[in-house]
Amino acid sequence: MIKLGSHVSFAAPGYYAGSIQEALSYKANALMLYTGPPQNNKRVPMEKCKVEEGLNLLKENHIHEEDVIIHAPYLINLANTLKEDVFTFSKELLKSELLRSEILKAKYMVLHPGSHLKEGVEKGIASVISGLNEVLKEDPTDVTICLETMAGKGSELGVSFEELREMIFGCAYPERLAVCFDTCHTNDAGYDLQDFDKVLEEFDKVIGLDRLKVVHLNDSKNPVGAHKDRHANLGYGTIGFETLCSIAYHPALQEVCKILETPYVNAHAPYGLEIESIRRKEFNSQLMELGK
Ligand code: FE
Ligand code: FE
Ligand code: ZN
Repeated sequence: MIKLGSHVSFAAPGYYAGSIQEALSYKANALMLYTGPPQNNKRVPMEKCKVEEGLNLLKENHIHEEDVIIHAPYLINLANTLKEDVFTFSKELLKSELLRSEILKAKYMVLHPGSHLKEGVEKGIASVISGLNEVLKEDPTDVTICLETMAGKGSELGVSFEELREMIFGCAYPERLAVCFDTCHTNDAGYDLQDFDKVLEEFDKVIGLDRLKVVHLNDSKNPVGAHKDRHANLGYGTIGFETLCSIAYHPALQEVCKILETPYVNAHAPYGLEIESIRRKEFNSQLMELGK
């Protein structure tokens, strides 16, 4: 059975136990969460986050701890060379998120490489590398940071496999780094997923397939190369259901978790229906009726 799940919430009162319960309600066997609001650094201490209860739920329901993916907060920007305090804040927040991930026994944390803010790709990448080096030098966990492929909106880094390679192998701790492949973002970055084998081949040549540890399975509202980053529900975008389904079942990605980050439909989470649809390998043409 492929590992398939979605983004879930990690909020009061259920916290970690609530995240697992939400995933179970979608019949997921993988999940992704932020350990607090992604747009700020206020964090509830882990002792209050129902961790034991969550870990027990995982065990009872045969979900592996390593199939719980953590997403680092958006406001981390290791590529910010304009404001020293943002760079410092980003490092500190990343350090504490790694520790929180370890308490949840998670193995992979997804991180946006950052935005260079018009200071140039090379300067941005150098800053990301120095930030990662400083964080990982002191980090006692063995959580793997998965740099996400980005759409190339604004001055985002990580828009090509080559940029990700530079960051991974430029870092002093490449064994701690991997990649999260977001299908919407790679589409928007200019990779045509209709020939997914060719894209994977290129990924393998540039980075190495063994580094691909998480897939974000999203359709895209925009054509190849649009640099937009607007997610669509599976089969309701330009990538299409068949292609996304074949990515989900790709033999080279058997062990990799596929995580949905598709938009809510009529204020309802679509994940239960989308997961069912991938499991059945059948497009759900009624999805937009959800909640009506
Ligand atoms: Fe992301
Ligand atoms: Fe993503
Ligand atoms: Zn996105």
